[in-house]
Amino acid sequence: MSMADRILKPGEIEAPAGEIRFLFLPGRDLFARRAERFRLLAPGHSLGGYLGFLALLADAQQEALDGFPPLPPPTLEEQTLCREQGMPLLDARLRSRNRAWREGLALILRRMAVAEVPTAARETAAGLLCAAESRLEEMADWILAGESAAVPPQESPFIAAALQVYWVHMATALGEHVFVRLEAGGVCPVCGSAPASGVVHAHGSEQGLRYLSCSLCATQWHMVRLKCSSCEATEGIAYYSLEGTNGAVKAESCPDCNTYLKLLYLDKDNRMEATADDLATLALDMLMDEAGKARSGPNLYLHPGGEVEEG
Ligand SMILES: [Zn+2]
Ligand SMILES: [Zn+2]
Repeated sequence: MSMADRILKPGEIEAPAGEIRFLFLPGRDLFARRAERFRLLAPGHSLGGYLGFLALLADAQQEALDGFPPLPPPTLEEQTLCREQGMPLLDARLRSRNRAWREGLALILRRMAVAEVPTAARETAAGLLCAAESRLEEMADWILAGESAAVPPQESPFIAAALQVYWVHMATALGEHVFVRLEAGGVCPVCGSAPASGVVHAHGSEQGLRYLSCSLCATQWHMVRLKCSSCEATEGIAYYSLEGTNGAVKAESCPDCNTYLKLLYLDKDNRMEATADDLATLALDMLMDEAGKARSGPNLYLHPGGEVEEG
């Protein structure tokens, strides 16, 4: 047998797609768990101050989610249409938002305006509380269109945080059974957004399977390994990790589209959380950036042009 014969092809190491659970919606305690993870990661970390800020932001998100009012679901007609056409039911770019997302935002801003965070962040939150509805809607549109760079860097995480709460609320209120696999494997089957990172599960029947984690609604959906989540190329995929780490987080890089996505290997550390651990490993992003590779999906807590202060 030649070397080439022994190289696994995508899908070969896994059960047929029909037998695999393809979707995990986030739990209603998502933001509490995320906050806990930020708090665990922050002490002694070079970005500790920033991770501490995000822990408080995630606390506020959880409070907003807990108090979210019931909202009208998509009609049965819409559900059937999306299923037939293979479209995300809660498409973040196409679907109009219920104004309730701004009430969630207001709660988050009220908490952050008095939180123990840097003065500048408190002032930004207080300023946004007075912003015109039209301006908030415009910023939300930019973020959901993947154009966060058009939003002021200090404001972007607050708006994004409220949008996350809204989509998590909508998705979990509907339940898993209404969502279907899309033909495009690299976008979220719930909201159509790009993944923030991928997670390789460590337990049960999903052990060893790779799930992509949505940057907006935190849904995890299955995608075979050894395949670029951005362009679905399968040749020449390479993995990079930071020297001196245990390899729990690796960047999966594609030579075809020159992008990468981080993968979190839960068998190495099962406390990892897709969004928090993505942010705690920004050093790996810098390494990939130096190598000329671009992230394939955003982390919405992070402004693409924004500086993160160390300390
Ligand atoms: Zn999503
Ligand atoms: Zn690619």
